[in-house]
Amino acid sequence: MISFFPELEHSQNIFPQSARDLANGVIRPTAVEDDHNETFRRDIFYALKKEGLTSLMIPKEWGGKAAGSAAHYAVLSELSRASASYSITVGVHQMIQAAVLEYGSDEQKKNFLPGLVSGDLLGAFSLSEPGSGSDAASLVTSAKKVSDGYELNGTKTWCSNGSDADLFLVMARTGGPGSKGISAFLVSKDTPGFKIGKKEKKLGLKSSSLTELIFEQCHIPNARLLGMEGLGFNVALSQLDAGRIGIASTAIGLAQETLEVVWTEGTRKAFDFSEGQRAEWAQYFALLQSVFALLFLAATRKDQGLKVTSLASQCKLLASDLAMNMTSSAITTLGLAGLNPHLGIERMMRDAKALQIVEGTNQIQKLVLSRELDKMVQ
Ligand SMILES: Cc1cc2nc3c(=O)[nH]c(=O)nc-3n(C[C@H](O)[C@H](O)[C@H](O)COP(=O)(O)OP(=O)(O)OC[C@H]3O[C@@H](n4cnc5c(N)ncnc54)[C@H](O)[C@@H]3O)c2cc1C
Repeated sequence: MISFFPELEHSQNIFPQSARDLANGVIRPTAVEDDHNETFRRDIFYALKKEGLTSLMIPKEWGGKAAGSAAHYAVLSELSRASASYSITVGVHQMIQAAVLEYGSDEQKKNFLPGLVSGDLLGAFSLSEPGSGSDAASLVTSAKKVSDGYELNGTKTWCSNGSDADLFLVMARTGGPGSKGISAFLVSKDTPGFKIGKKEKKLGLKSSSLTELIFEQCHIPNARLLGMEGLGFNVALSQLDAGRIGIASTAIGLAQETLEVVWTEGTRKAFDFSEGQRAEWAQYFALLQSVFALLFLAATRKDQGLKVTSLASQCKLLASDLAMNMTSSAITTLGLAGLNPHLGIERMMRDAKALQIVEGTNQIQKLVLSRELDKMVQ
């Protein structure tokens, strides 16, 4: 088994090992069927939670494992090898926990962290709207101040975990145009005036639901405002760096799995694995190891409390493009076998395509990096 996480200390390594066991034991057996039927299994999420894998970066005082970023990202990669959808679910769930931990009042932490850590509450993150994806700061869902709280009206879109989540971190407009007019709210699934809209059909990540969220005169009490009014865009951005490293980890899992499948198939006696093909996949191995090293650097810097915006964009861009190239090349190398769902490559190719878009498209990552270069070269 190809593994890129030997750098982890033993105490952290138990988590990726346990993720690998669960990925093989409970996710992989139904991955093809669940992709086909677009099924998410809550019992799988509970199994992951039971091993502490859904709250690895949460401090022990709140019931988490305080295991650090590298262990969390290694776990996402291991899950992704069996199904990228579960890696996405856990990654998003972690973002909500981190947002409550960073911006929540004592009361909000007490109200929500125990449920998020126990897995009773599954989290979702809702920034995108039909008219604002990349340009997220132009969102129009309104949160009008009323005497004892806010009234939300509008439609959000592309919410991962949407059909299955219990607690939604929703960004809505409380003030004027631009990012400073946005606030963040913690909205429970059963809030009157809030309903889950249509479930999107999509190419990849089919076991992770993606839905609209509809707000019609939805009353949210003051106690559900996360952070201060006008801070909502900062709340969202604060989770995006971590989220992008998470997407890179998911992509690395796909790339690792693809490399292993191709090498195993290629070296079977019946397969005519040419020297040229061996060289091509040896080169992918080197590229994959280098992207992994970058991801490990990003995780380490993040745990040191350093800003990782540029590294996170680099990881997301390189890892998802690499996963896309490798899965596509794998089908070329393996021919018809590569198109058979049971080998998993065609699913991973569809998943890799979605990873190039989620958490800011790869074009947006290039914009982030261009701005970073502007600052560096003055
Ligand atoms: C699988 C999946 C899960 C998702 N989950 C969530 C979620 O949980 N929560 C959430 O809030 N959102 C989620 N999203 C939404 C995601 O963040 C948006 O799809 C993404 O930000 C792109 O927005 P868009 O689809 O509206 O594309 P657009 O912004 O319309 O972009 C269309 C194209 O134009 C390019 N483009 C746009 N602006 C620029 C620019 N300035 N310079 C160069 N090129 C540009 C883009 O790169 C893209 O190629 C998810 C998306 C996917 C695919």
